[in-house]
Amino acid sequence: MLLSDVGEFGLIERVAEIVGGDDERVVIGIGDDCAVLEWNDAKYLLVTTDTLVEQVHFRLDWATPEDVGGRAIAANLSDIAAMGGTPLAATVSIATPPELAVDTVEELYRGMQQVSAKYGLPIVGGDTVKSDRWITLSITVLGEVKKGNLLTRSGARPGDVVVVTGTLGDAAAGLDVLERGTGTMSPEIEGRLLAAHLRPEPRLREIQLLFDSLTPTSCIDLSDGLASDLRHICTASGVGAEVELEKVPISVECHNIAALTGKPALEYALSGGEDFELLLTIPPDSVGDLPRLLRATTTKVIGRIVDDASIVTGVDIEGNRVALGKGYEHF
Ligand code: ADP
Ligand code: MG
Repeated sequence: MLLSDVGEFGLIERVAEIVGGDDERVVIGIGDDCAVLEWNDAKYLLVTTDTLVEQVHFRLDWATPEDVGGRAIAANLSDIAAMGGTPLAATVSIATPPELAVDTVEELYRGMQQVSAKYGLPIVGGDTVKSDRWITLSITVLGEVKKGNLLTRSGARPGDVVVVTGTLGDAAAGLDVLERGTGTMSPEIEGRLLAAHLRPEPRLREIQLLFDSLTPTSCIDLSDGLASDLRHICTASGVGAEVELEKVPISVECHNIAALTGKPALEYALSGGEDFELLLTIPPDSVGDLPRLLRATTTKVIGRIVDDASIVTGVDIEGNRVALGKGYEHF
């Protein structure tokens, strides 16, 4: 059997069967945005790791080394945000071919340092090794979360409202701008889509604001696309979900590129990954507080959680169920 037969998530399940033993210090192991470990009376320790491979996740003719480094840190911080946490420290491991310019590596680190400094994340170590051809960047981030503030993928309950931060699909649209070559739309539009792809903002501030007044029941960051990541929440929580498709927040810029490429804007929003926005579920009785917060955090209600775990679906404006499609999966 090949990896392509089981897929990324099939492989992770097999790995979890091998290594996922019981240990009272492990609150959450494989299966959420971060691992959660017992730490002290007040807080849990969070651990997350992400790897970027040149030519698979980034190309240095499309992104500057600073962009690549900054985005790698942002992706890890997004997983900390998804658990309701705040960052503690990071380590960075790099595998690189000997022919690479020292400048390129320094620029990668300047990009990482910029984003780390912005979110209070000291980079405290790592590893440096040789690779044959391409750069691999692997980052581990530690975070902390007050025990009462821990958010997981498994707390969604029927009746909860589904909300997302920001607009969806812009990062995938930015990738299309790079693939098509810049210069086919206005520089402002292209610039905003490229920024979404190259410089995503982890929603660390937003999650604290939302938490203070809404007590969300579950959360995930949107790295694989809404369709796939909502399924992760539903599987982990044993529930289903309905998304009102006309409520999915899509930017004017994303609509613009959709008109050019002929790919529906909704497809960018549902299946395009790496927006690093947050998808949360909140109890219906806390929606009362929503309007003020929705403005402060640009969060939108897009659907609701249902009892029937076999239903994870879109609903169009006439009330018809429409498939959500697939998100990104390696292999
Ligand atoms: P995210 O997109 O939030 O970074 P992933 O989809 O990459 O999460 O991973 C899902 C879960 O599987 C996480 O808990 C992650 O730690 C775990 N995981 C992924 N790959 C491996 C692996 N090779 N070995 C052990 N755990 C893994
Ligand atoms: Mg995640």
